[in-house]
Amino acid sequence: MIQQRNHLIQNILIAEKLDAVLIFGLANIRYLCGFTGTDGVLLVKTNESVFLTDSRYSDQAQTQVRSDRVHCYNNKLKAIVAELTSCQSQCVGFDADVVNVTLFNELTAMVGGGCELRPLNRQLEPLRGIKSRDELAALKAAANLNKQAFEKVLPLMRAGVTERDISLELELTLKRLGGEANAFDFIVASGVRGALPHGVASDKQLQTGELVTIDFGTRVDGYHSDETVTVALGEVDRKLRQIFDIVLEAHDSALAAIRPGVAICDLDAIARDFIVAAGYGKYFGHGLGHGVGLEVHEYPAVSSRTEQNLVEGMVITIEPGIYIPDLGGVRIEDTIVVTADGFEALTSIPKQFKQINL
Ligand code: ZN
Ligand code: ZN
Repeated sequence: MIQQRNHLIQNILIAEKLDAVLIFGLANIRYLCGFTGTDGVLLVKTNESVFLTDSRYSDQAQTQVRSDRVHCYNNKLKAIVAELTSCQSQCVGFDADVVNVTLFNELTAMVGGGCELRPLNRQLEPLRGIKSRDELAALKAAANLNKQAFEKVLPLMRAGVTERDISLELELTLKRLGGEANAFDFIVASGVRGALPHGVASDKQLQTGELVTIDFGTRVDGYHSDETVTVALGEVDRKLRQIFDIVLEAHDSALAAIRPGVAICDLDAIARDFIVAAGYGKYFGHGLGHGVGLEVHEYPAVSSRTEQNLVEGMVITIEPGIYIPDLGGVRIEDTIVVTADGFEALTSIPKQFKQINL
């Protein structure tokens, strides 16, 4: 186990009075012991950590995994139960957000009445919330690929090109530059499709006079980039320009408020109140942002319901938007890290109004 991270789990064991924790989620597994494969379970006890995986990953696990032991199994559930029985665990936590009901029921039946399996949710959520220097370097590298790829693809944007063309060019460019995988299905939403906050690239052709919202990201060393740019193709209608300016100001004012100790829900309120005051509140239906790391959406959510405060080292997005049916939409998104006295932007594509002259 990576020592400092083992410490975080040991604190949970003590606080929750648990003998052990089973980690099924791949992002947490990678975070805690370094395994990058796609199947395995990490068992953390007070005195030992064991990584369980199958024969496909035995070599990889031996070289990659930083646990006290690696246990190679033929039957995953039997192996877990054997480990729990051998150390006479009576109360074992597990990451409830990734274990489905079938797995939970099977495991409960197999461990029997002597061992309680306890779902952990909020307790594990903040685990990856504060990023280390290495994590920030990977996040920054991923964000830099976004900038390079966008610069290469921007000249292709003109009337007649489809949203899908733009999305594919971004994808290929990011991968040529070293991106490991798309962070998610890219959104390229032009004209009236801009009113769909999650308008995945379609066969629609871009047209003069439209705003085009592009939300894309890649992955470097397991860490994601996430950024949204809205650009104008030629001259756009006054109302579209107006909503662009409102979204940009909402985005900038939320960024300006970022510093350790600020309530995350207050950040959401700063951007939202501004959009509400401008008369577009009902067209901003989603939260202001989310954490980014080994998963593209992770703790902390940046919304009106979030109870935590900002902490130095948290990486979050700020992404207000206005989406007006039958007209179009604007979203502007940056990923930032909270620093001791404010924030540092990881994403770096300029966000001011940009009109591509055709
Ligand atoms: Zn995004
Ligand atoms: Zn996002």
